[in-house]
Amino acid sequence: MHNNEIERQPGCEDELNTGLLTVAQAQALILEGVTPVTATESLPLRDAPGRVLAEAIVSPIDVPAHTNSAMDGYAVRATDLPEEGVQEFPVPGTSWAGRPWLTPIAPGQAVQIMTGGMLPEGADTVVMQEHVERDGDTVRIGSGHCRGQNVRMAGEDLATGQQVFTAGKQLTAADIGVLASLGLGKVSVYRRLKVAFFSTGDELRSVGQTLGPGEIYDSNRYTLYGMLKKLDVEIIDMGVVRDRRELIEQAFHDAAAAADVVITSGGVSVGEADFVKETLERLGNMSFWKIAMKPGRPVTFGHINGVVFFGLPGNPVSVMVTYFQFVRPALLKMAGETGALGAFTLLARASSALRKRPGRYEFQRGVLEQTAPGEFSVRSAGAQGSGILRSMSEANCFILLDPDRTSVNVGEQVEVQPFQNFI
Ligand code: AMP
Ligand code: MG
Repeated sequence: MHNNEIERQPGCEDELNTGLLTVAQAQALILEGVTPVTATESLPLRDAPGRVLAEAIVSPIDVPAHTNSAMDGYAVRATDLPEEGVQEFPVPGTSWAGRPWLTPIAPGQAVQIMTGGMLPEGADTVVMQEHVERDGDTVRIGSGHCRGQNVRMAGEDLATGQQVFTAGKQLTAADIGVLASLGLGKVSVYRRLKVAFFSTGDELRSVGQTLGPGEIYDSNRYTLYGMLKKLDVEIIDMGVVRDRRELIEQAFHDAAAAADVVITSGGVSVGEADFVKETLERLGNMSFWKIAMKPGRPVTFGHINGVVFFGLPGNPVSVMVTYFQFVRPALLKMAGETGALGAFTLLARASSALRKRPGRYEFQRGVLEQTAPGEFSVRSAGAQGSGILRSMSEANCFILLDPDRTSVNVGEQVEVQPFQNFI
C-alpha cells in the first residue's frame, strides 16, 4: 500500500514518459510508413488460399447458371395448381441434375425433378415429393402451394457482370470455392512478402550449441519464426549477429538486399553494446524508438532504401508483444490486405487482481475463459516480467491496460485481445 502511494505521486511518471509515443501514435506512424507490394502473380486456385487477391473479380456467368430445383419433387406451372381439393397431373418424364427434361411443360403436366435439376421451360414452381401422391404416370397434388416455391433462380447467387470480390481480400476456403463456381481456375494475387530477421547479442547461442558462462539460448528467432509462419510470407532466418558495429551494419546491408521487411531483436536500448538504433540512424532513416508501453518500450522503426526495419527489444516477451501490436498489422498492409489489420478485443471480468502503475500502456498476459455465452473472465497468466516466456506460452490473450489505469481488482472489467489463432 505504502509503496503504491509513493509510486503514484503526481508528476513522477509524467516526467519519465516525456518524449515517448503512445501505442496508438506508433501504430499509426508505422501504418503510414509502409506501402503494399505491387507485383502480382497468377496462381491456380489450390495455391491461392491465404494469399491476397490483386484483382477485382467480376462474375463471367450466372450462378446458378440455370433456374433449378431446390428439392426432389415435381415441377409445375403455378397457374395449374388447385386452389382447393386435389388435382391429378400426368408426368411425362424426369429432369435430373445434369440431365434436363428438354421438352417445354404442357398445361396441366408435372415433370418429376431432382434437386439441382433444371426447371423445364414453362414451369415456375416445385412441389416437394413428400407432398404429393404418385400413382404410375400421374401424380396428385393438393392446394396450399405458392408460386416460385423450391426454385433457385438463375443468377440468384451471382449474376453475370456482378462484382464478386475487390482486390485486397485475403482468400479463404469459401472464396476459392466461389471462384471455382465461376469456372475460374486461376487468380491474380500479390507476391509474397519477404521477411528477414536476425537476433543480436554476444550472449546468444543457437540450439545445439553448449552454453558458456553468461550465455543463453536464442529463443527470439524461434518465436519470430513461429509468428511469421501464421502469415503467408517468405521467411529468411539470418541467424545471430554479435554486438559489433561492423557486423550489425553488414547484417543490415545483407538483410536489406534480401527482404522487404527486416526484423531484429535486441540491441535497441542505450546500452554500450546496443548498435541497432545507431546503425539504422546512420544507414537510413529512423522514425522513432521509444513507446510508452510495457513491455517493449524501445522499438525502432525506420527504412533503409525502401526496406522497412523493425528493431524489436531483446526480451522474449517484448518481442512477441511488439510484433503483434506493430509488426503484424504492417505486414498485413504490405501484403496488400485492405480489411481490418488489428486483432479484435472484447470485455472480460478480472478473476484475479492485476497490478499496474499508471503511466504506460500495459499488455499483460492473461488466460481468457468463457463463463457463459458472451461472458468472459480473465486472470493473469502469472509473472509478468518481460523475460518470462513461460507465462506468454500459458496465456491466450493480452489484457490491455491503458496508461491511466492503476491496479485492477477482482470483478472489474478489462479489455482483452485474444491472440490464440494469430501468433
Ligand atoms: P537487449 O535488448 O539486447 O539489451 O536484450 C534484453 C534482454 O533480452 C537481455 O537479457 C538479453 O539477454 C535478452 N535477449 C536478447 N536477445 C535474445 C534472444 N534472441 N533470445 C533470448 N533472449 C534474448
Ligand atoms: Mg543485447
